[in-house]
Amino acid sequence: MKNSNSKNPCKKYELAITSYVLEQKMNISKGKLNAHLSTCQKCSRDLQEWQKSVSVLRAEAHDVKPKSKKIRTGLLSQIKRKRTTADTK
Ligand SMILES: [Zn+2]
Repeated sequence: MKNSNSKNPCKKYELAITSYVLEQKMNISKGKLNAHLSTCQKCSRDLQEWQKSVSVLRAEAHDVKPKSKKIRTGLLSQIKRKRTTADTK
């Protein structure tokens, strides 16, 4: 298993897939990656998985504002309620 790195061509493509999905500079050309993806099921599945998780992350990042706004509004009304009960004491 020691030689698995040199024998496994997917190793260098794994990094390229990650870079490709994150729209970063790749260590190999896009053409080479696509050529490998068309012959390697494992890597094309890997790419799909990455694209899925990245799109989920992007959706969550997009959602952060309205969600936190709701939470803040909820917290604010709680604080206001507490204040008014404390004031009437
Ligand atoms: Zn592969």
